[in-house]
Amino acid sequence: MRKKIAAGNWKMNLGRDQAVVLTQDIAEGSIPEDVHVILGTPFIYLHELNAMLQDVKGIELAAQNCHQMPSGAYTGEVSASMLKSIGIEYVILGHSERRMYFNESDELLRAKVDIALKEGLKVIFCCGEPLEIREANSQNGYVSRQLVNSLFHLSEADFSNIVIAYEPIWAIGTGKTASAEQAQEMHAFIRALVQEKYSAETAVDLSILYGGSVKSANASELFANPDVDGGLVGGASLDAQGFLSIINAF
Ligand code: PEP
Repeated sequence: MRKKIAAGNWKMNLGRDQAVVLTQDIAEGSIPEDVHVILGTPFIYLHELNAMLQDVKGIELAAQNCHQMPSGAYTGEVSASMLKSIGIEYVILGHSERRMYFNESDELLRAKVDIALKEGLKVIFCCGEPLEIREANSQNGYVSRQLVNSLFHLSEADFSNIVIAYEPIWAIGTGKTASAEQAQEMHAFIRALVQEKYSAETAVDLSILYGGSVKSANASELFANPDVDGGLVGGASLDAQGFLSIINAF
């Protein structure tokens, strides 16, 4: 059965001391046994935080990116195998900020997904439409193309290591949340695509997270939907109490 997941995406925020305190506060908080917490932290904190979380159950770490090549002369980059070598479980790929500011195309993301899975990481793959696409009611075609182009070449076994995060771009960091109905509708659409491509079993087992201005005030309503299996949370994951109440909103 699929996992309930509360994932935080810290983006390029927090100094080292703040990162340690936030992680400690979350680890000391109350986390329901059936909720899987993932902290998407800057690369530089992953090793230290992983050591801190060694004996803590239910919290894993995610990198926010990895390079598409296995190794080599790519100054400043971090490979999937490096992440694996320090014990990291997940990598977030396809976030709209990386697509937008770093020109990450569906084709590039396909290569990143491949190398991440090959190295044994699990992938939180982000998809989602910009405002003009939503206004033209073309969001299903847009999201389906993102998934087909970057994920649907995977074998069914590899696909079982994917978590999908639906993040409508117009709702990220804007305070605008998709309504619970809009989220449910898209998540059900994504699950149906996965069923069509792979199988009913793979579709049922897939965790699909919603992202876009999730906070303690709206998390319960969003997570109550049958196809919303949790959230990928940006701003609200930087505050321990706020994030803990999201973790407890299932
Ligand atoms: C995100 O960056 O993945 C995100 C959903 O951000 P926020 O929660 O701040 O909208």
